[in-house]
Amino acid sequence: MKRGIDVRMKTLLRRLLGVERTVIVAVLWVGSGLVVRVRPDAWWSRKPCCGVCGTKSPRYDRGDGVRWWRALDLGTTQVFLEGEAPRVQCETHGVVVAAVPWARHKARMTRRFEDTVAWLATQCSKSAVCELMRIGWRTVGRMIERVVHEAEEGGDGLDGLRRIGIDEVSHRKGHRYLTVVVDHSTGRLVWVAPGRDSATVRAFLDALGAERCAQLEVVTADAAPWIRGPVTDRCPQARLCMDPFHVVSWATKALDEVRRAVWNEARRQGEHALAKELKGARFALWKNPEKLTERQTAKLAQIQDTNKPLYRAYLLKEQLRQVFQLSLVPAMSLLEKWLSWARRCRLAPFVKLSKSITRRRKEILAALRMRASNGRVESLNTRMRLIMRRAFGFHSPGALIALAKLCLGGLCPPLPGRLRHSG
Ligand SMILES: [Zn+2]
Repeated sequence: MKRGIDVRMKTLLRRLLGVERTVIVAVLWVGSGLVVRVRPDAWWSRKPCCGVCGTKSPRYDRGDGVRWWRALDLGTTQVFLEGEAPRVQCETHGVVVAAVPWARHKARMTRRFEDTVAWLATQCSKSAVCELMRIGWRTVGRMIERVVHEAEEGGDGLDGLRRIGIDEVSHRKGHRYLTVVVDHSTGRLVWVAPGRDSATVRAFLDALGAERCAQLEVVTADAAPWIRGPVTDRCPQARLCMDPFHVVSWATKALDEVRRAVWNEARRQGEHALAKELKGARFALWKNPEKLTERQTAKLAQIQDTNKPLYRAYLLKEQLRQVFQLSLVPAMSLLEKWLSWARRCRLAPFVKLSKSITRRRKEILAALRMRASNGRVESLNTRMRLIMRRAFGFHSPGALIALAKLCLGGLCPPLPGRLRHSG
């Protein structure tokens, strides 16, 4: 193509590329891609800024010369922007590449390209994002970190918190942990950091500051002292509630202990058929009854016939789960009935569980009360787990955290050229 292009063509290209404060200098074909030569417009060039912090800074030199930035494809054609990347001398950051209007600092793709990838990463599978955008998953990780970092510059998102939940989520097959904080009134993820210890919880409370700590009314968590300690220290007015998700998971664990004991006993007695059957029953026992398949329902009926202790354990788990689905008054009465049954059930794991639940009764009742006034709070833990699975393959916990914030923290940018959906 001829290098000289007319004004109408330049306007059209600027619109198609979605760039602002940018002058189109020339257009050329290189291989099968379109290369658009650009420079910042006069207004932008008059005040060069640090690429890191955006502070106006004196020009330093021309940098490494011309660079390319990948832009969104036009139809099926790959498009690149070509431009100079001069450097400035920032008071804080020293000699750095100056900010350009079409891309984020250190990015090799345009802002619109990165925003599109961030949106896709919250909506599609890993392979769909990589295939469609012709990029690697690690590149996706770095991009969404930049997008989230920029979105967070507007504020820390911790204002107005009254009822929060603090929880831990494991990633990398349980070897690493994140501490996550959710706002119960909106369901939004408001804070995440690597680690699960009191220092991490204190870092969150530091970010919140004394004034906002004093406004917290309810904190739900599991029984872990590393959460309870710092919270009671800094927010003595907040009511601590047991997170129902954890109570139910304790019961699931107790049920599994019973199942394993029964299974081991069957193997010891040489009852191989029974042992095999019990092994296969695992999922039928774990699942919520309304989600059972026909075969699993049959399996459960079989257990009811052949194995009384295991079926009793199953009913104990289910009844405890029921407690958290009822409204306040029936829930409280069912919890009392459950406790007296569990104490006498002759299944060691459940007798033990009844003791820990009695110890935490106050926090559990507080949770029931909160739930009654707050509707159903979906388990953040479950939603985080889905994100962890998708984030597998990122090189850093930073990228994983960024994906969680995009998906659950309300930080996902709208698709370029569209308005942000309300609500
Ligand atoms: Zn700077």
